[in-house]
Amino acid sequence: MTTDIPTKTRSRWVELVEIIEDARRRYYLHDKPTISDTEYDKCFNELLDIESKFPMLKSLDSPTQSVGGARSEMFEPVTHLSRMYSLDNVFDDQELKTWLDRIDKDLGQTPHYLGELKIDGLAVDIVYRNGLLSSVATRGDGTVGEDVTYNAQFIPSIPRALTGKPPSLLEVRGEVFFELAQFDQINSELEKSSKTEFANPRNAAAGTLRQRVDRREEEVAKAQANSKSSEKRLATLRTELDDAITILQKLRLTVHGIGAVDGAKLASQSESYQLLKDCGLPVSSHYQVGMDPIKFVTYWQEHRHDVEHEIDGVVIKVDNFELQRKLGETARAPRWAIAFKYPPEVVTTKLLDIKVSVGRTGRITPFAHMQPVKVAGSTVEMATLHNEQEVIRKGILIGDTVYLRKAGDVIPEIIGAVESLRDGSEKKFVMPIVCPSCKTNILAVKDADVDLRCPNAKSCPAQLIERLFYIGSRQALDIEGLGSKAAAALINEGILKNEADLFDLTEASLIGSEFFTKAVSAGSKSNQINMAGEKLLSQLEIAKTRPLWRILVALSIRHVGPTVAQTLAKEFSSLQSIISASGQQLASIDGVGEIIAESISEWFSIDWHQDIVKKWQGAGVSLEQTAPKLLSDHLTGISVVITGSMPGYSRDGANEAVTSRGGKVSSSVSKKTDFVIVGANPGSKFDKAQELGVPVLDADGFAVLLESGPSAARSHLGLS
Ligand code: NAD
Repeated sequence: MTTDIPTKTRSRWVELVEIIEDARRRYYLHDKPTISDTEYDKCFNELLDIESKFPMLKSLDSPTQSVGGARSEMFEPVTHLSRMYSLDNVFDDQELKTWLDRIDKDLGQTPHYLGELKIDGLAVDIVYRNGLLSSVATRGDGTVGEDVTYNAQFIPSIPRALTGKPPSLLEVRGEVFFELAQFDQINSELEKSSKTEFANPRNAAAGTLRQRVDRREEEVAKAQANSKSSEKRLATLRTELDDAITILQKLRLTVHGIGAVDGAKLASQSESYQLLKDCGLPVSSHYQVGMDPIKFVTYWQEHRHDVEHEIDGVVIKVDNFELQRKLGETARAPRWAIAFKYPPEVVTTKLLDIKVSVGRTGRITPFAHMQPVKVAGSTVEMATLHNEQEVIRKGILIGDTVYLRKAGDVIPEIIGAVESLRDGSEKKFVMPIVCPSCKTNILAVKDADVDLRCPNAKSCPAQLIERLFYIGSRQALDIEGLGSKAAAALINEGILKNEADLFDLTEASLIGSEFFTKAVSAGSKSNQINMAGEKLLSQLEIAKTRPLWRILVALSIRHVGPTVAQTLAKEFSSLQSIISASGQQLASIDGVGEIIAESISEWFSIDWHQDIVKKWQGAGVSLEQTAPKLLSDHLTGISVVITGSMPGYSRDGANEAVTSRGGKVSSSVSKKTDFVIVGANPGSKFDKAQELGVPVLDADGFAVLLESGPSAARSHLGLS
């Protein structure tokens, strides 16, 4: 074993870990990858390679030792009954043969294999107790996932109750996905209503399952209860809720594994599939047992488009459970299964032009404008080229026929030019010297930077639009009405000079706008704002009360993303205390460090940045960690337990409804519990309440408790 690690290798290891961790966050947490799967796999394999040569680098914090998902705080955590794993990959027949040989050697025999399709969707863990659906969760980090049970009730292929003779406890693993036809239809509807389309079916499935439908229901319920809500607003909210449910109903499930089981003895993967089928769970019709793995891989490589959903490869599994147990697992993946990933598909198309875009931080990025071409299930006409060096490295000229790939991947990538097709009319790309948006000279901020930037952060319209859009994004203030089109309208129509006045927007400031005003007839506008305007204004009000860390993210301070912002918000109670903190104080915080501290101090020292903070504060944006306000005190001294999902409330929302009236929410039922509130799919707490004789309230009873207090709730139950 080599013990001396060359400095170059060590720094490459650090670099790869950073790239992979960042890619994982974007892919799993935000459903918005920025590098292709192929690039990700390349980095991952390079890391594996380095670690096989220098095993001492294989520490627990290496991505090779973890499953790789992340968990958003938007959802309740769910601990899986047994751990969920990822899969190791092979990319060609030779690698597969090596893997098969290793299995033969480790087992001392050639096992029976089960081959199946690798569905490109979102992994879920589903638990049934006594045949009834108990929970649905995403994979998360493999141990703890995100609770999506509420949304899952709308997916028809996830049965609420099992058929046949289900075991008393059954934990199944599967993939939630859209069929390609559904995916195309969803995207064309999104396009028609000028909404952002999904990049690919995997992203669409993840984005659809990981949305808070319960929050939408809550908004509708609130608007219904509020006598001041207009009919129009209520109708908009209802339509949005219906749309969200309609798209959820199009998701499909296929199960491909089993976790914890009580009450059934299973000897193999194929036997478990028979049980799952008997229970009414959707098992793929494409799996095969006892087949030749190489032939299976070759067959599906040729027929990958014959199935109704996207596949990014096939999975080969040792069928027998005893042999699976013998082989065991690594920290990241089972040793008894392997994914064979198909190479990305490559197509050719014409490179019509290379233009440049300006990002939120002023980065100037060249991108290719191509003749539209279908690649891996969707039509592509744009591809990023990252920077000028990348254009040179790829050796592409405007007018070239280029190789383009995507396949199972998210991001279209130009590989290079088909030089043999050149006719001499092709032109070299010349990087502009001024910003295409504000005409300021562009420059490299540091000598070694490959990226060029527009330094006019204060008033470059392109940067302003991107910053506004970012403020509205999920990772910042999550303002639904502030999408890219609304952000562009606010700047391009001169409604806002910059983000400082965002929270001062009123109906009056939006009237007259092309985008936010109702049309009376073609070409003429009324003096009433439209739904886009109403939505923006109502969502801005909600955004004013978002937690401190989200405000910090929304300020677009370099290096201050959600993780750093949350660290800062935990240390300081207000934005003012962060502003007043010295660079040294900031740098000493675990997870901050000198570079970030410097960037924070520098940001707050700039006068127009100070103006943003002042104006947001003046407009009522909460810049402090706030304690929840009490709505009333009629639940003071009352302790409740909530189980199951409550219509119109998220779990946090239901808890808050109690605590904001002075009540206490406990996690377990005891004789001291005053009420147990029972929603859909209640857990064991319901049984416990009955056992102890604690009064049980349904949704109606809960409404009485919140409105009129404990005595009224008891009378509602017919108790004295
Ligand atoms: P994976 O997607 O390669 O394989 C594991 C998953 O496959 C399992 O969790 C399971 O849900 C799924 N699967 C589908 N069909 C299956 C079947 N029949 N049997 C068993 N499992 C099946 O691994 P991963 O850990 O989820 O993700 C790693 C991959 O995701 C990478 O190889 C890369 O392609 C992609 N990724 C991309 C980025 C990016 O930035 N582009 C970032 C992270 C991950």
